Amino acid sequence: MKKVLSGMRPTGRLHLGHYLGVIKNWLELQEKYDCKFFIADWHALTNKYKDTSELKENIRQMIIDWLSCGINPEKATLFIQSGVKEHAELALLFSMITPKSWLELNPSYKDLKFNLYYQYLRDFLAGKQIKIIQTPPSESFDEALKKATGKQKNKIFEEYLREAFHRAFYNQKGIDFKGLKEMLIKFGIQKKIVEEVVRNLEEGDVGKDIDTLGFLAYPVLQAADILIYKADAVPVGEDQLPHIELTREIARRFNNLYKEIFPEPEAMLTEASKLPGIDGRKMSKSYNNAIYLSDSKEEVDKKVLQMKTDPQRVRKTDPGNPEVCIVFDYHRIFTDKETVEDIDKKCRKAEIGCVECKKILSKNLNRFLDPIRERRKEIEKDLPKYEKMFFEGTEKARKEASETMREVRKAMKLWEF
Ligand code: SF4
Repeated sequence: MKKVLSGMRPTGRLHLGHYLGVIKNWLELQEKYDCKFFIADWHALTNKYKDTSELKENIRQMIIDWLSCGINPEKATLFIQSGVKEHAELALLFSMITPKSWLELNPSYKDLKFNLYYQYLRDFLAGKQIKIIQTPPSESFDEALKKATGKQKNKIFEEYLREAFHRAFYNQKGIDFKGLKEMLIKFGIQKKIVEEVVRNLEEGDVGKDIDTLGFLAYPVLQAADILIYKADAVPVGEDQLPHIELTREIARRFNNLYKEIFPEPEAMLTEASKLPGIDGRKMSKSYNNAIYLSDSKEEVDKKVLQMKTDPQRVRKTDPGNPEVCIVFDYHRIFTDKETVEDIDKKCRKAEIGCVECKKILSKNLNRFLDPIRERRKEIEKDLPKYEKMFFEGTEKARKEASETMREVRKAMKLWEF
């Protein structure tokens, strides 16, 4: 049977985006394949090593979330990465044979750096009372510029800011902020502020937190996570494809240098969740816009009421457009087809109000979350019993990993203790 491996970093409670993007897929995979799902706590340290006070609790929450969603230790091996020390040993040996350039050129390393720099830029501008408008303008750059520099000064459209920053960051000849500077000034932002932020980006501490060996080399640890179990396939999103390619390259290099031990795993491409957060941005803990699997009915009701709707629909008598409404994005997933079609028609003819529409969504979301909540209650009553399932899984994984390590040491002619 095909061996499948997948992991998740314990960074906090899981939300609906995690469910739709990962857990739902795992529930199907565990029925068909020999699956191993692991809590990647060492990976959580790669960019969050300063404050580790929440790590243990996050692992506990992840155990509860997985099990309450139906991830089943009788169907898949569930384990905690740091409980299988062999991952670290193999990562160390792989690091000896991995050229540094493979890691430095890894696109996801650059992307993470980009996100950190960009976040800094946004925070800096926001701190100077410059509004970053979320909704992308539908008009041309000149029209958007006119709007932004009209009566209400000091605002900029996210779409343009991001684009200019992207161009600056991914410049072929290295990072070049000239174009970004020009654009900020065009938007009427004071020259003094523009120069300060660009100077900080060029010379400051931004990105220092990830300027570590651990961060640069985390794809090597990931390769060890996968290859130590000789996994055939790894479910990943498109952005993770370069990592799988790197894993395959490391496997090939090892096999060529020593002995044919590792199969080259294939990527099982999975679609990322398209469900937005309640404010329309990507659902994320850091944007404070997520609906968690552990939210109570009252919390869900409150969040649904806060959801953004069609911005053009000011009064109940105005016809709406479900295509631009976040509530409708949720309906598409959590409401039955017939009702979705009915809402679509009624919204366009102003025959249904947004409050009523949101009430239907709340009911359906809670209906979806109720069984998960029930199981959560059961698990929380006797958490040690459920944690034990992960310890047993870890033990099982360790046995398999130590078998591979025996083969690896032998192939590399290392001392066997
Ligand atoms: S009626 Fe529903 S779909 Fe239409 S705008 Fe209001 S919340 Fe959105």
